[in-house]
Amino acid sequence: MIDLRSDTVTRPTPAMMQAMFSAPVGDDVFKDDPTVNALEAKAAALFGMEAAIFCPSGTMTNQVSIKVHTRPGDEVICHKLSHVYYYEGGGIAFNSGASVCLLEGDHGRITAEDVEAHINPDDIHRPVSRLVSVENTMNKGGGAIYDFNELQKIGAVCKANGLGYHLDGARLFNALVETNETPLQYGKLFDSISICLSKGLGAPVGSLLLGSKTFIKQASRVRKVMGGGMRQSGILAAAGIYALDNHIERLKEDHERARTIGVELSNLPYVDEVYPTQTNILVFKLNNKMNDSLLIRKLAEHDIHGMIFSPQTIRFVTHLDFTDDMMQKTISVLRSLA
Ligand SMILES: *Cc1c(COP(=O)(O)O)cnc(C)c1O
Repeated sequence: MIDLRSDTVTRPTPAMMQAMFSAPVGDDVFKDDPTVNALEAKAAALFGMEAAIFCPSGTMTNQVSIKVHTRPGDEVICHKLSHVYYYEGGGIAFNSGASVCLLEGDHGRITAEDVEAHINPDDIHRPVSRLVSVENTMNKGGGAIYDFNELQKIGAVCKANGLGYHLDGARLFNALVETNETPLQYGKLFDSISICLSKGLGAPVGSLLLGSKTFIKQASRVRKVMGGGMRQSGILAAAGIYALDNHIERLKEDHERARTIGVELSNLPYVDEVYPTQTNILVFKLNNKMNDSLLIRKLAEHDIHGMIFSPQTIRFVTHLDFTDDMMQKTISVLRSLA
């Protein structure tokens, strides 16, 4: 099976499994799990942030963060296609009772100018602007990478206006391996950062939320309320430590394979447009020579699986379990459908 639906479909490698089997564990709700503690300390140090907390999912790290940053009625500024708004089941309203201000922007990226223009004045009619959330890389934007200068400018706007600044960095490492920026620079810029271990990094479960000591203390209370306090979760954290040690640099291979398929796609008669392929997400639009569900069905006949992202728009995501041979097969099947 060639599974390009998401980079979440990877299975733990034998070496990762070994790390999980041999991990020392304890009850993490009592802060007694040495492996969870080690993962949290490792991630905090990597980003130069004071503390981190391990959660079951990226949705939870984002939602916990938003809950800590806001009070009911406050407003969160983000792109209209951002994961925190578009793919988290209305969690901003459900968990935090917060309002949203949805911005447009190139391939899912917002600008400092636009953020500044949408901060509400001190007027009792208007929600209080409280938090800006950005996503890097941007899933709906086809894995687009932010220009770090723009992120810094947005940070300056947040500071000047007393707004919190959150990064949904589910795929931040995909951006970092393609640019010259470091985790430390990101740690310095943001009040809170969420990173996923179960996407391109290949761990079976888990995400981390990073922030100041005070922030993470509040986050651990919210995580507990949401039912995310786990016990011998060191078994999962061990996979995360292994992923941070071994699976970051190789993300470049995933990007290379996505680019190669992207170039092929742009030459096919049924493809209208391929989004710029900066990382491991490949998004392309079909013209009237091909129907979206027909393409998905035809690919499935060859046991190749992709996803309809929006009408006539397809998403492929490359990952740890997608090899060069699979790439060649995918390319020849795509060609054969022309
Ligand atoms: C996958 C993802 C998340 C979190 O997803 P979970 O499935 O809850 O772990 C958050 N943000 C982005 C951009 C994502 O792609």
